[in-house]
Amino acid sequence: MTKKSNQNEEEFISFQPGQNTKIRFEDADEDDEVAEGSGFAGEEAAQDEPMCDAADASEVTDDTTSADYYFDSYSHFGIHEEMLKDVVRTKTYQNVIYQNKFLIKDKIVLDVGAGTGILSLFCAKAGAKHVYAVECSQMADMAKEIVKANGFSDVITVLKGKIEEIELPTPKVDVIISEWMGYFLLFENMLDSVLYARNKWLVDGGVVLPDKASLHLTAIEDSEYKEDKIEFWNSVYGFDMSCIKKKAMMEPLVDTVDQNQIVTDSRLLKTMDISKMSSGDASFTAPFKLVAQRNDYIHALVAYFDVSFTMCHKLLGFSTGPKSRATHWKQTVLYLEDVLTICEGETITGSMSVSPNKKNPRDIDIKLSYSLNGQHCKISRTQHYKMR
Ligand code: SAH
Repeated sequence: MTKKSNQNEEEFISFQPGQNTKIRFEDADEDDEVAEGSGFAGEEAAQDEPMCDAADASEVTDDTTSADYYFDSYSHFGIHEEMLKDVVRTKTYQNVIYQNKFLIKDKIVLDVGAGTGILSLFCAKAGAKHVYAVECSQMADMAKEIVKANGFSDVITVLKGKIEEIELPTPKVDVIISEWMGYFLLFENMLDSVLYARNKWLVDGGVVLPDKASLHLTAIEDSEYKEDKIEFWNSVYGFDMSCIKKKAMMEPLVDTVDQNQIVTDSRLLKTMDISKMSSGDASFTAPFKLVAQRNDYIHALVAYFDVSFTMCHKLLGFSTGPKSRATHWKQTVLYLEDVLTICEGETITGSMSVSPNKKNPRDIDIKLSYSLNGQHCKISRTQHYKMR
């Protein structure tokens, strides 16, 4: 899953609200077979409009305008193109299914948020008894056509609607598959829809794919970009616009971090077990301790996630970290008020609290407390961020 974000302009050709406009996909060499039997893909070798409130769901015709997409960003093929071309993502799912047919063969599968139907097609090809492909955006109509064009109409049933609202023509399913991950893992809160489906339809001992997701944290030097995105507001054509700087500081930035920018080690913040967790577990407070690996300055903390499919014969998964092959999720950068001067071996300690925004649960509130008691820098601060 993906979504429009506040990336830097170079990555955009044009911008229409609600429509995915990320055109350039760095490092995506489509010929590469990612994760073939190699465990973790890409390992060392990245609104507030509702996602599918398809304003009265009139068919997407050639009359559809950007205003329609604004309320239904997943109805446009561009966002699906980007996800499908993310080979780290798509190839990992394909490998999970094709290399572990025992999980799928003769099973009833539910695909939560099917999009173009790609994961359902993989499952059908792997011998699923039946696949229910649930998709709430207008893309469901395309998925129906795609299923038909590929001769899988007998095996795949596309259901257009929200998972929370549809009637599934079977009491239970053996497998739930979904690509629900958003920026910062939890942005858009689609995980809730997967948990809803799991609680309602998954048989005892059934399989959720993927079943593990973890959030990690590290720290980077980023003077140039912080200057460009944050300090910029101090003087704009000679005028003080620093009130906007405060807002800019509060919005985590989704962007690609170069691994040379990393100053500290990485810490695991939180692991979620999708097959067992409850919806409330997506709100958490986790302590961290980051140890500097060189003398440098720190401008931001960076969060990224990985997912794994532990039910596979051999562990499969992928990481969206800065040391792994780039994905469309990139990384999430949280700028710090202060520039930290850190010496090798010194530690930044702190905690991060993450929770869905009370007014709009698709947004995420992040509270970050950090302190450094170093030779050149002593600092202790709490900052608040909001992903939207
Ligand atoms: N499975 C596809 C698409 C993943 S993107 C693929 O891997 O390429 C996530 C999809 O879930 C989007 O198409 C979005 O419209 C859909 N979606 C999000 N929330 C949903 C919900 N509550 N019910 C049904 N579909 C949902």
